[in-house]
This record gives sequence, structure tokens and C-alpha cells, in this order.
Amino acid sequence: MTASSSSQIPDQPFLDALNRLDLAAEHTSIPGEALQRLKHPQSIAEVNIPTRMDDGSLRIFKGYRVRHNDSRGPGKGGIRYHPEVDLEEVKALAFWMTCKCAVVDLPFGGAKGGIIVNPKELSPLELERLSRGFIRTLGDFIGPETDVPAPDVYTNSMIMGWMMDEYSKMVRKRTLSVVTGKPIPIGGSLGRHEATGRGGYYCLKELEAKQGWKPRDIRVAIQGFGNAGQHVARLLHHDGYRVVAVSDSKGGIYHRDGLNVPELIEAKNRRTSLQEVYCTDSVCDLTKADFMTNDELLRSDVDVLIPAALGGVITRENANDIQAEVILEMANGPITSKADTILSRKKKLVIPDILANAGGVTVSYFEWTQNRTGWYWKQEEVNSKLAEIIQRELDALFSVMQEKQLDMRTAAYVAALNRIGEAVGCLGTQSYYQQQI
Ligand code: GLU
Repeated sequence: MTASSSSQIPDQPFLDALNRLDLAAEHTSIPGEALQRLKHPQSIAEVNIPTRMDDGSLRIFKGYRVRHNDSRGPGKGGIRYHPEVDLEEVKALAFWMTCKCAVVDLPFGGAKGGIIVNPKELSPLELERLSRGFIRTLGDFIGPETDVPAPDVYTNSMIMGWMMDEYSKMVRKRTLSVVTGKPIPIGGSLGRHEATGRGGYYCLKELEAKQGWKPRDIRVAIQGFGNAGQHVARLLHHDGYRVVAVSDSKGGIYHRDGLNVPELIEAKNRRTSLQEVYCTDSVCDLTKADFMTNDELLRSDVDVLIPAALGGVITRENANDIQAEVILEMANGPITSKADTILSRKKKLVIPDILANAGGVTVSYFEWTQNRTGWYWKQEEVNSKLAEIIQRELDALFSVMQEKQLDMRTAAYVAALNRIGEAVGCLGTQSYYQQQI
């Protein structure tokens, strides 16, 4: 993979990410050589994981771990299980983690991993063998001071627990800080489970304060009703926001007066699809709702749109039809760079993924810190430290936006690149060595 320019093939996630990097770099003081490093992931592990199935057969699953950059600290980022995991996308996701950790000023670099698998087709025992096998095959590619995995799409705290346990057996030391997002009794942090949603919620609370919003007047649509989508919906609903539309992979539901979010979360977690909840469960009687497709939800007449599922859902095909004035990117990379240009021309406020969903990795950092000190924090302490970081960094981005006349995504990259540039600069760049001659 080489460095990109905007003339290269569009909509390839890593190239797409590098295009944005180049655009933002123009507004920074990052040394050219630091930028060059960011265009090449530091190391990539591609593994084949032999896994015994319940019927006695053997299946080989392919997995990846990309450590993008560790200038600011050990690699950090999730592991996803999905049939469409692909190396180019994992590289982009790892790059975003480098930027995300820098935007919220965590002492981490960026990494990401994934296994090509549909976890819904595996039994719990098969899933456990696969997860433990992945860690054994990766060996010392990961470690508390090299690269620290966490949950991502279709992975959860139990899987993180298996991974920590397997690594601990390998190194013959209980090593809690090798993975974050673990179950609470085996080294997890209070507040980590809901942290991604909560971080996004704090971003909107900051906007509420700045723009004088009255929650009841604000209509919200959420695409994706997994962990992040559910928690942001719950917190907003609790504050009186009107969550008028939500969807999952099978489709969406809409009601102009707002949906009953707590009932919906409960029912959704009992069943598999939101539309099924609405047509067969008692929730149908609590709130009447219309069905809509995922695409209709994205184009719906709301004030705040929250894409909280997979990447690349807002493209140049539908960007012109987006009605929401504010878009909170809870998913990683939901807006392609072509769509981004359209939205920015239309003066939409996009709170970019590298800040909007940084709550997860921020509380992962708290978990890693707690594991290493052995001193565990109360939930309120976790939440208030998270709120402080999100508010501080969002405010800083507003200042960069005003000062340099940039959209928020570019401002976020500018902030991240300046921090990464400083770290690289500490160890010497060309200009330093030239001065010494
Ligand atoms: N997978 C999450 C993300 O994309 C969390 C990463 C972490 O906690 O390390 O930000």
C-alpha cells in the first residue's frame, strides 16, 4: 500500500482515510516524516486459526491484527468478528485508532484486529476455541506494553475474558492489562460496557449547552441498535430527547412523538430484530410505530442523526438527502470522504468518529490503568473523568474550527496530527539532525 492522493480509487477505506489525512495535514505543524510514517501501518499479523468444531471437524479461520503506529504508546483498539472483515478495512480502522487516541490525548497508539467469521453461526464452545486460538496464534504480537485489544463489532466482554485468560496461560502470569473490556469480576472497569454510548452522549450534551437546545424539541434517529446505539438512545431518552427512529440490520421503526426506548432495549435484547419486537411483542401496544428501511432512516426528517452500525453507510448516493443538521458518528467510518465533502458543503455539523465514539477507548484506558495499579474506581469516578475528557477535547476542537475555519472532522485530525507530530519530534526528525551538523 502506498500513500494516496485524492485521484486514487475512491471508497477504499484505507486510501479514503489517507486522503483525509493529507487534507488535514496542510493545517498542522506535523513533520513530513511523521506523516510518512502514518501512511504505512507499522506491522501487520495475518493468521490462520485452526479451530475444532463441535461435530469434530476442523475449520481454519483467517484473522488479522494491524498495529498502525505506537509513537504515543502501545497499540490500542478492538477486535471484530464479522464475515466481511477485510485487511484494507482493518488498516483503516487501526489508523483511526491512532488518531482517536491522540484526539482524546490517551497514551496509546492505534491498532485493530478482526476475524473473518459469522459469530452467530458458532456455538459458545466453538467461539471460545476460536477466541483462545486467535490469541495463541498472535503470540507476543499483543501484550500490555505492545498492543492491547478490546471489544468491537460482534465481540463482547466474555470473549475479552477468554483472551485475557489465554494470554495469561501463555505467559504463565495473570496479565489483566493485556485486554480491556473484560467482565467486571476479572479485571473489567465499571462503566466500560456503556462507555462508547456515554461518550457520544456527552458530545451532544456539550452541543446542547452551546446551542441552547431544549431536549424535547430535538428529534433523534439512530441507525444500529447494538451496544453503542442502545446506550446513547437510553441516555438521550432519559434526558427528554425524542428518539423518533431506530434500526438494526433487519430494518427500522419510526414514531414522530418518540419511541419508548427502555421498553425497546429490553425487548430487543430478548428477541433478535427490532421489527420483530414491534410486530409480535407487547412493545407494539406501548408505542405504535411505522416500519422504515435503514436508508429511509438515514434520510429521515430529524435534527440529530446517529449512525451507530458499520462503516460506509453515508455515501455520495445518499449524502445530499440527509436532513439532520447534526450527525454524531458513533460507528467507525460511517461517512465516506466523498459524502463528507457534500455534507460539509451543506454546512452540516459532523461530530467525527474519532471523538464521538472515543468514550470506549477512553474507559479502556481507565481499565488498563486500574489493572496496572490494582486500584479500582467507582462508576461515578469513571463517568466524571470521561465527561471531563470529552468536554475538554470537544471545546478544544471548537476553538480549532473557529481559528482555522475548518469543519470538525478536519479540526479533529489537526489536533491528533499535532500531538502525534510532537511525539515523533521528541525522538528527532530531519530538521533536528540538520541543525546538529
Ligand atoms: N473498538 C472500540 C473502538 O473502536 C474500542 C477500542 C478500545 O477500547 O481499545 O474505539
